[in-house]
Amino acid sequence: MSGVTPDDATMTTDDTLRLVRSEPAQTSAQSPAPIAEDSPDANGRNPLSPRSDLSGDTLGLEKGLPDDAAGPVVAPRTLRAASATLTGTELTRRLRAIGFRIRTTGERDQAVRAFKTGWFRLGPSLMEGSVANSIMGPRASQAIDESYQRSLDGRPTMSPRFSFTETQCPCGGHYADCRRIWPTRLSVIAAEELRAAYFPNGLVPLSWCRCTGHNRAVGGATSSRHLKGDAIDIPHTVSLGRIKDMDLYTGIGVHRADGNVQHVDLRQGSPAEPATWYHP
Ligand SMILES: [Zn+2]
Repeated sequence: MSGVTPDDATMTTDDTLRLVRSEPAQTSAQSPAPIAEDSPDANGRNPLSPRSDLSGDTLGLEKGLPDDAAGPVVAPRTLRAASATLTGTELTRRLRAIGFRIRTTGERDQAVRAFKTGWFRLGPSLMEGSVANSIMGPRASQAIDESYQRSLDGRPTMSPRFSFTETQCPCGGHYADCRRIWPTRLSVIAAEELRAAYFPNGLVPLSWCRCTGHNRAVGGATSSRHLKGDAIDIPHTVSLGRIKDMDLYTGIGVHRADGNVQHVDLRQGSPAEPATWYHP
């Protein structure tokens, strides 16, 4: 065990992720415009693809959106043509159905970025070799539509086993600047692996994304990986050794009373020598 590290206290402000297998750390550089977010995705290599840069988002509250989807969601069962791009109204309705809160165009752009970041690769994959942005093209439209159809079917909307709503900040919108849903793709992939390895009957994340206000309210570390959307609190039923055996997580919090893991994250570091600590 490599020293007792309080939850998330070892992070710098550097937002890069070094865990990415066989991939150098990528700085969150500004993406050039225009961005080919829908560029072809060769052959699905390296699922642990570059992350998006979701930092620095601000709410565009000055631009109001008509509340076009206030009523119950009507469920059109028609699949869209692959070449079509969702209109603004269609996009808002679908993202809301998936679980995003959209009151302004700024929040809609934010939701598109978060969707692209968390979207696993069900149907169309996004973002290969590019950062997540709010540009909507046919591929992004197809992916959001696929997720939307899954929500109507009661199937997980984000990945084979997880939905975007399972990652949402528990504050429930209490804090005005809460982005609600912003899981990193790596955390989604890791959660799938974790579930497959040790939670055959299902894994319900106890806490995934946390906004600054909520994190402060629950006494989280100021640099908590929950803020970045790549930490998950889990039912503590699996031993530290078994989590280490996954060779995946770089931050591991252990429930002191029973010695099982209750927090996993993807901070910078080596999964061979994860930062570990005990929770009271
Ligand atoms: Zn929140």
